[in-house]
Amino acid sequence: MEVVNLLVGSFFFAMIVFEVTGHRLRAKRETHLDVGLCPMPMPDGTTPNLEEIFLGRCWEFQYLYSSQDNCPGARVDCSDAWQKFKTAFVGKDPCNINDNAYDELLGLIPIRFADDMTLFWSGTNELAHGYADATPIDTLEDSMLGYMLNGLNWCSSEGSDRFSSDPCPDYDPESCSHTPSGVFWSSVSTMLAREASGIATVMINGSSPWDAFWSGSFFAKYELPNLDAEKVTNLRIIVAHDIEGPINEECGEDSVKRLEDIAAASGLTYTCENSPRDVRLFQCVDNVNHRQCQPRRNRNQIREETTD
Ligand code: NAD
Repeated sequence: MEVVNLLVGSFFFAMIVFEVTGHRLRAKRETHLDVGLCPMPMPDGTTPNLEEIFLGRCWEFQYLYSSQDNCPGARVDCSDAWQKFKTAFVGKDPCNINDNAYDELLGLIPIRFADDMTLFWSGTNELAHGYADATPIDTLEDSMLGYMLNGLNWCSSEGSDRFSSDPCPDYDPESCSHTPSGVFWSSVSTMLAREASGIATVMINGSSPWDAFWSGSFFAKYELPNLDAEKVTNLRIIVAHDIEGPINEECGEDSVKRLEDIAAASGLTYTCENSPRDVRLFQCVDNVNHRQCQPRRNRNQIREETTD
């Protein structure tokens, strides 16, 4: 009986979570439900069932959003979107996709967020998306196109009329700089940045063993340079740190300073915060008993404890 109660309780809890976060589409990244399914292998080539996933996500997104107040009104013909998507790379050399290859697709499904609602991320994939799930702010992966293609892989080969199931070539700045997915993500990242207005937020990783702001990242190459200082009233830089540290970089230091300098040189007003309270509180949801989550702590205490 207890087991039954537990199962019923879990089900209703899951329903509540779904209701509360229902407008968000990303699947929960971690679950303890055992649904008796074996993991699907994820090969290096084109994602199996790519067409079905693309069309399913495209229709699903529209059904789920049709009740939202800010519904853009127009419907997207998902078959048309699929044709435009395929045309961008099928039969083409997977290292030389044209920079404009996805223009028609982006014309059909533009990306536009409300003022203050854009969150860029770099080196903080999981934290930034968890934070976005818990707040009204949105990432590229919350947009329709970002949602449709996130986590998928696709390529073809020159002269072919189909997708390639062989491993898709890796990005290489010299020999393979224009991969099908690389050009797609650079195009949508550029569009998201050009459209950003009001406060634009970027969350970078101050605990990374590498630079928190890396000039080779998508954020540095396609998002930061495309922010419009006329439309973006403030670039809110969040330097997030793992709850256990280390604190490798903070505002005004090393690569974060380089980011601040580029923002200033581009005419952007910016602010920079080290692990601000809203992000820390979000991290504390999963770590309620952690010492960092106890009241009345200040940054110096935290720094002392996380830096040897
Ligand atoms: P990212 O997290 O994908 O890549 C940054 C990574 O570069 C860090 O994780 C770090 O490990 C690594 N790095 C940092 N410094 C380095 C160095 N010196 N040498 C080698 N590696 C180093 O972040 P990104 O590239 O900025 O892309 C994310 C941004 O671009 C987001 O804002 C998003 O809008 C967009 N985007 C999303 C996707 C997607 O698949 N959803 C893909 C591309 C771009």
